Amino acid sequence: DFSVSLPETGNDELGELSKSIQLLADDLNYLKQERTDFLASISHELRTPLTYIKGYANIVQNRELSPEERRHYLTIIKEETERISALIKDLFDLAQLDNNAFIINKEPVELYDFIRKIDQKLTPAFEEKGLKLVLFCPQRVYLLADPLRLEQIIYNLLDNALKYSENEGITKITVKTDNNDVLINIIDNGKGIPSADLPFLFHRFYRVEKSRTRASGGSGLGLSIVEELIHAHGGTITVQSRKNSGTEFAIKFKGALLDEDNLTR
Ligand code: ADP
Repeated sequence: DFSVSLPETGNDELGELSKSIQLLADDLNYLKQERTDFLASISHELRTPLTYIKGYANIVQNRELSPEERRHYLTIIKEETERISALIKDLFDLAQLDNNAFIINKEPVELYDFIRKIDQKLTPAFEEKGLKLVLFCPQRVYLLADPLRLEQIIYNLLDNALKYSENEGITKITVKTDNNDVLINIIDNGKGIPSADLPFLFHRFYRVEKSRTRASGGSGLGLSIVEELIHAHGGTITVQSRKNSGTEFAIKFKGALLDEDNLTR
């Protein structure tokens, strides 16, 4: 640990300096602990799929299997490999965001068409689970944003609504403007999140139910990346949720543009 032992001092300049050094040591210890936790989470997230891959590869290698069994085990190996790839991609994004090395290439994005295209990609998956996805966007709104990153943000939030909703669920996306702000809300009537978990929701590797969410494929990094991508665009995201009644994510970006003539502003 970074421990400091400083002389007992009064309220003079030396006293102030001594307090600042103590605060700095506390910060360093906090960062050190955070790094240790982060590395522990990464090793855990990698170890679990690797254990499956090793186990099933052994079975395929050493046992007499029917073609169906073989296909079944190979499918698991493939899924676990994909989980590792997704984790590495997320970690790479986070490393770039941490270093401010993340390049945001802004261009005018017309939100109605943009979000409708993302909806179309996800609709089959929603329908397969008996869920609906609807978009409300009463007027054309343009926003200066990086289209790839904006898609990542919206896709992640919709994918969560899909993962954490049950039969008959409806997910709504609304796009509105408020003076110069663009407000994008993603509202589902799914499982909801207990209020005790809400303060940690955007923390790295945070999952509400560790075992349940592992089955549905998440690493718990999605929302931390979403939040950082929104911050990188100068926006904010907040969440409201009630257990068993649904969740609403509210995104706010500055700089709404209502018609194409003003796009160069
Ligand atoms: P994951 O990869 O586990 O989905 P995220 O960072 O995207 O990780 O989300 C963190 C946790 O927040 C999830 O594990 C889940 O418990 C909870 N969560 C996120 N979105 C929703 C939602 N729309 N409804 C209910 N719970 C959600």
